Formats: sequence, C-alpha cells, structure tokens
Amino acid sequence: MNNIDLKNRYESMIYRRCGNSGLKLPALSLGLWHNFGHVNVYENSKNLIATAFSKGITHFDLANNYGPPPGSAEETFGKILKENFKSYRDEIIISSKAGYKMWDGPYGEWGSKKYLVSSLDQSLKRMKLDYVDIFYHHRPDPDTPLEETMATLSLMVQQGKALYVGISNYEAHDAKKAFELLKEMGTPCLIHQPKYSMFERWVENGLMDVLKENGVGCIPFSPLAQGLLTDKYLHGIPSDSRVATSGVFLNEKNLTPEKLGIISKLNDVAKSRNQKLAQMAISWLLKDERVTSVLIGASKPEQIIDSLEGLNNISFSNEELNEIDSILAG
Ligand code: NDP
Repeated sequence: MNNIDLKNRYESMIYRRCGNSGLKLPALSLGLWHNFGHVNVYENSKNLIATAFSKGITHFDLANNYGPPPGSAEETFGKILKENFKSYRDEIIISSKAGYKMWDGPYGEWGSKKYLVSSLDQSLKRMKLDYVDIFYHHRPDPDTPLEETMATLSLMVQQGKALYVGISNYEAHDAKKAFELLKEMGTPCLIHQPKYSMFERWVENGLMDVLKENGVGCIPFSPLAQGLLTDKYLHGIPSDSRVATSGVFLNEKNLTPEKLGIISKLNDVAKSRNQKLAQMAISWLLKDERVTSVLIGASKPEQIIDSLEGLNNISFSNEELNEIDSILAG
C-alpha cells in the first residue's frame, strides 16, 4: 500500500456516462465477491483496492452476502476505507445489494420492504458509511409485488441512504416494468447488473435494447467467466486459481475438453490482436457503447493492471467478430 502512488490516478482511465444519468463510471469497476472475506489476507484485499483506485477505478461493487462469511467483504471494505481512503469518499462510488439469503427466517432474503430496509441498514453499519452511492435489488423475487420492491428502492433514495438505485439479474420483461415503476416514483433506475461475457450472451436477446430505450446503464458481471476467459487453465489448474481455491461457483467440471478447446482458439484470436485473452474478453464487452462499465474481480493486484490493458483496443473488425462468434458456436 505504502508504495502505491495515487498521484496520477485520473491519467488513463476512461469514464462512461451511466445511461441518461449524470453519473460517470470507470470503464472497469472492481467487484468484491471473492478475495475480501475474513478468510482472505487483509493486506492483499487492501492492495487490490489501492491498486484499482490508483488507476482511476473509482467504483467498488459489494453486496450484503459477499465474504465468506457473508457480510465480511463489507466489513473489510469499510476498514480499508476508514484506514486509508477516508478523505477520498467523494471520489469513490460504492455499491451494495440485497436479494440473496442473508439471515434466517422469512425476512432474510428476496425483495420485501422488511428485508431490504434492514439489509441496507446492516450494510451501512458494516461499511461504516452514511450512504451508498448505488443500491441494487440483487435478484428478482417471484412472490413480492414489484411495486413494493421498487417503492422500497425509491424510499432509500428519499431517505438519503442511497444516491441511485439499480437492479441485477432481471430479465428484459421484468426490467422494463421495474424501470417504468421507478420512473413514476421519481427515482429513475441508474443501472442494470447482468451476467454477460463471451460465454454468457443472454442479454443480447432483448435486455440491452430495453436498457437503451430506458436510458439505463449496464455493468456486466463475471466478464471473464470467473477466470475461464483467460489463458490460466490452458495448461492445468494453477494452485492459486479460483477453481483450486474456491471451487463452489467454479470447479473442475467447468473445464471440459470442449470448453478448453474453445478457450484455446479464443486465445489465438486475442494473440492476433496483441492482447491476452482476459484483455480481449473485456474489450469485447466495451465495444458496445451501451456497456457503461465492466465489473471484474481480481485475486492479485497484477491482474487489475493486466485487465486495464483491455481498455486500449476496444474496436474489432467484422472478421474478428465473426471468427469469435464461430468459435463460440463450437
Ligand atoms: P471475473 O469474471 O472478472 O473473474 C474474476 C477472476 O478471474 C479473478 O478473481 C481471478 O481469479 C481471475 N482473473 C481476473 N483478472 C485476471 C487476469 N487479468 N488474468 C488472469 N486471471 C484473472 O469476475 P467475478 O466472477 O469475480 O465477478 C466480478 C464481480 O461481479 C464480483 O466481484 C461481484 O461484484 C459481481 N458479481 C455480481 C453478481 C450478481 O448477481 N449481481 C454475481 C457474481 C458477481 P483467480 O482466483 O483464478 O486468480
């Protein structure tokens, strides 16, 4: 941390306007799903934040349940912020979410007002903050009326506990309804956070158009498919990789010979563009101007530096795009 220089932090980052809002986000944001729990090394978590901020990554994405244990990523982030970046609060965008299971009983998950209000209060306490910049409903709730969930998001903005609101994992049809409700309530939706990468392209079938039509930004999560869209698994499973160390959401079963064959071919396309595969995966998302920011994760500071190179070559020829499409088609 001591040798990380913050002086030139705004020199090379690109900032994109988030939908029709007044807020700009860095083209790359850092997520704290992995590597920030109490189980992780605090010094490394701190270096990840410091490295990101020193390169103009002003946006950090959390959720109530990130850890493990759940809640501990917010605690770690709050500690890092207080100890090192307190005077930079106005230069930083902090996001949190609620929707997945956080505590026992009927009020510990989904989308009721009861759950969301309690959860945001808990998040603020854990991070030692007065407000978050963006608060998301993390996943659609099939049972709670959308009106109740959206009214609660709007209330949080009125109460000053969140500056903006967003939704995550909503399909196009429900997202559209949510945007309309929020607009009627005077709290336009800022952003949608979907899973989107070369391996996960469902958003292209309608959601991206709905976002554009409603002036809502887009921040794809797991842009590297948790590390699959890198060269790291091409020659075995490194002992410090997510497959080896975490294994819950990504494990050996995801590394089929077919998948590895596709990754290897994509790696060749990246090489022909003078990029690493991780960088090309990020460029490939940023080629679409409707994408506001790409939400990466990182286990080491060097990965952030490496991924930032993906901002330097975001145009693709039609031949390259066609080749990528045909590789992905298998
Ligand atoms: P990525 O797809 O970016 O995967 C990140 C992982 O890939 C890293 O932890 C690291 O894993 C590896 N990696 C990263 N950069 C490089 C590099 N340059 N070269 C080689 N390997 C690299 O994203 P995540 O799946 O971590 O998700 C990102 C964020 O999205 C989360 O932190 C969270 O904020 C958000 N998210 C939101 C969800 C939602 O429902 N809204 C769900 C999931 C995530 P390794 O350990 O192998 O080094």
